[in-house]
Amino acid sequence: MLTLRLASGREARLLAGHPWIYRNEIARVDDEGEPGAVAHVLDDRGRFLGQAMVNLKSQIAGRLLTRGEESIDGAFFARRVREAVGRCGRSVSGPEACRLIFGEADHLPGLIVDRYGDLLVIQILTAGMERVREAILAALRDATHPRAIYERNDASPRKLEGLELRKGFAWGEGETSLWIQEGGLSFSVEVAAGQKTGFFLDQRENRQVVKGLAAGRDVLDCFCYSGGFTVSAAAGEAASVVGIDLSAEAIAWAEQSAEQNGLFSRCTFTIGNAFDALRTFDREDRRFGLVILDPPAFTKGKQALEGALRGYKEINLRAMKLLSPGGVLVTCSCSYHVDPPTFLEMLRAAAADAHREFHLRELKTQAADHPILLAARETQYLKCAILEALD
Ligand code: SAH
Repeated sequence: MLTLRLASGREARLLAGHPWIYRNEIARVDDEGEPGAVAHVLDDRGRFLGQAMVNLKSQIAGRLLTRGEESIDGAFFARRVREAVGRCGRSVSGPEACRLIFGEADHLPGLIVDRYGDLLVIQILTAGMERVREAILAALRDATHPRAIYERNDASPRKLEGLELRKGFAWGEGETSLWIQEGGLSFSVEVAAGQKTGFFLDQRENRQVVKGLAAGRDVLDCFCYSGGFTVSAAAGEAASVVGIDLSAEAIAWAEQSAEQNGLFSRCTFTIGNAFDALRTFDREDRRFGLVILDPPAFTKGKQALEGALRGYKEINLRAMKLLSPGGVLVTCSCSYHVDPPTFLEMLRAAAADAHREFHLRELKTQAADHPILLAARETQYLKCAILEALD
């Protein structure tokens, strides 16, 4: 059996419930197997701590699968998949689109599975999961009886694991342009060409918040992608909604969704840079009753944190200035390196520079089908603050 021995004193994080082992915490690996092979994890005195998938190519060199000694085989993954798909906010039948498996938080490190009706879209992000791909596909078929399973294994974290990028049907076949229903609205989902697995399922609950806030307001949705927030605001009786995104493709999908819901006449879409648009609106003295900021992650690493915070502050400061009296800012960050206190601190600094006072009405996070493992703060990546201007 492959064994991984931790350096002295490096077991605390695992013992506290976190599933990762960093490369510099390992004293040695006996019998090094292929990247992703399962090893028994021992502390420096030889005490058994669990079993982990090991890939020394990655800085996160070990990902804990279990704290027990059971065999890691097809039956193990079938059990894990069944447990995951049964959790809160998820459904394996009915029309709803949802995340079925959220990696570490579902004890399946490196695996993401989203369901869009009868199509599953998976992302395998680690060498460990790549090795057991067949077992995972079989377990997913047994637990959810999909029409097909599409693989979006073109995500850049795979490179850190030494894996190639690819996408395509892993099992079955069919259309990759779909419509899903959510909260009484139809949204276009592009499984093969879209971002992530095609749609931002993590913002589902926040789309409802926006819908509830929009009535009678002029709304600006920056970084609108396929129009999740734009269409929700229009459905919530906004007076007008402007959606802006750099991607022409994304804007075309957003237009389709607005049209499909009979809301096109209330929406204006622009292909462009949100940073520039915010500046232009300010110059033109345009004002909005609701501004939504949901930019891409400005940093994927700790090193770039300062630059990322400058970017977040700039767009938030500009958006705050554009709010009419009593206006609401719905502002998000999906970088997990920006933790909630840091995000709020950035918003305080932006508000001070904008010379505006706000109530923090709510600090929301990702939808419940993207569960947060309390012991692993990296699993809480989405922050969504609702700020109401007092003047
Ligand atoms: N709010 C969306 C998700 C946004 S994802 C939803 O709920 O569905 C981030 C989006 O920002 C992507 O669509 C990307 O094309 C866009 N983007 C990235 N940089 C941009 C920029 N400088 N200006 C405008 N859009 C940008």
